[in-house]
Amino acid sequence: MNAAVTRTAADAARLPLMLAELRLPTVKRLWPELAEQSNREGWPAERFLGMLLEQEVHERETRRLARARVDSHLPPDKGLASFDFAAVPAVSKAHIMALAEADGWIAQGHNLLAFGPPGVGKTHLVAGIGHALIDRGYKVFFARTSELVQRLQAARRDLRLPNELARLDRFDLLILDDLSYARRDQAETSVLFELIAERYERKSLAITANAPFSAWDEVFPDRAMTVAAVDRLVHHATILEMNVDSYRRRAALPARRQRSATPAQ
Ligand code: ADP
Ligand code: MG
Repeated sequence: MNAAVTRTAADAARLPLMLAELRLPTVKRLWPELAEQSNREGWPAERFLGMLLEQEVHERETRRLARARVDSHLPPDKGLASFDFAAVPAVSKAHIMALAEADGWIAQGHNLLAFGPPGVGKTHLVAGIGHALIDRGYKVFFARTSELVQRLQAARRDLRLPNELARLDRFDLLILDDLSYARRDQAETSVLFELIAERYERKSLAITANAPFSAWDEVFPDRAMTVAAVDRLVHHATILEMNVDSYRRRAALPARRQRSATPAQ
């Protein structure tokens, strides 16, 4: 065998290990076929290398987004594409799209508050904005407020609260769903206040709640803390009032009418 061929075979044999070591799975998968094509068609080396690395960059971005979406705990099927803006005339689609494009509010740590009775689409809308932000490379975390409060309280008991808060701090947007369902008698909800105070003017919070601020005395340990929390939340905030009929109920109505229109057997 001639020396050049032996040399090429030896290089090729070492490649899979080196590519694994460098964490380049896409190059590792694609290079044999592309190298063959490149050799056959006499590509310049720049073209071969460029094409391989381009694929690696592309797939790395795809993997990163998929991971961010899993880490976010966002409800998977609640994107803005499936949100019917006509159902909530008080909410401007243009405004929501601007928020979804991170028109500065995320960078400035401003908040988003969505109020309204159950079933009007608060969770869907806020989750949809969360998904759009992930697409733009932001880190988002979605939590039911009562569950997050329980987790933070457990962390405090184990003296891990600073660690938990630091973990949440990595997220550009933290969504607290159903804040008004958190109850101070779960234990004491001052961890929630600490979270709000910690993020104030630094990192964004999005909150959904059935009850407006006046009912939040139920959520925080005392009146002064409620006032202080509301103060921080609304200081730089977009507030969406979604006082329409339940979308769930409206969606169910035509079906029910149809059923009742069918003659009884
Ligand atoms: P809320 O959080 O206000 O209680 P949800 O966001 O959970 O309401 O909405 C209830 C159900 O109705 C969900 O399945 C949601 O996807 C759907 N829904 C609500 N509003 C809309 C809307 N405007 N367009 C499409 N689906 C909607
Ligand atoms: Mg909800």
